[in-house]
Amino acid sequence: MIKVESFNLDHTKVKAPYVRLSERIKGPKGDMVVKYDLRMVQPNTDSIPTGGLHTLEHLFAVYFRKYLKDVIDISPMGCRTGFYLSKFGETPLEELQQIFINVLEEVINSRTEDIPAVTEKECGNFKDHSLFTAKEYAKRTLEGFKKR
Ligand SMILES: [Zn+2]
Repeated sequence: MIKVESFNLDHTKVKAPYVRLSERIKGPKGDMVVKYDLRMVQPNTDSIPTGGLHTLEHLFAVYFRKYLKDVIDISPMGCRTGFYLSKFGETPLEELQQIFINVLEEVINSRTEDIPAVTEKECGNFKDHSLFTAKEYAKRTLEGFKKR
């Protein structure tokens, strides 16, 4: 059986929101790819509706790249409780959490025209967006971090 790191995480033991280093993968030429688990919602308690998740994906694609070089991808989890961020090289967790907080604050201050790539030509489900829901979940996640 192939081992997948995130399938071995005990989702009953985690406390969202959090930033967790999920995997370090060294490529054949020595490049280090690091994958992070950016959890916004407590697993099996809540999940981000697809429109909001989709808008967060579009906004995160731009906002995280303003703070971090070497981002490979930021993708929503199928369970809709968070995102995976993959990048070249390791960023300390505290630093990444602060960047995540800054990005969430930017989401809260976003306007409809700030969402990139929302035309039929640019997006695979351009009608399924909700900035309202994206902001609601950004607010909840920020509140969760502030309670720490
Ligand atoms: Zn899209």
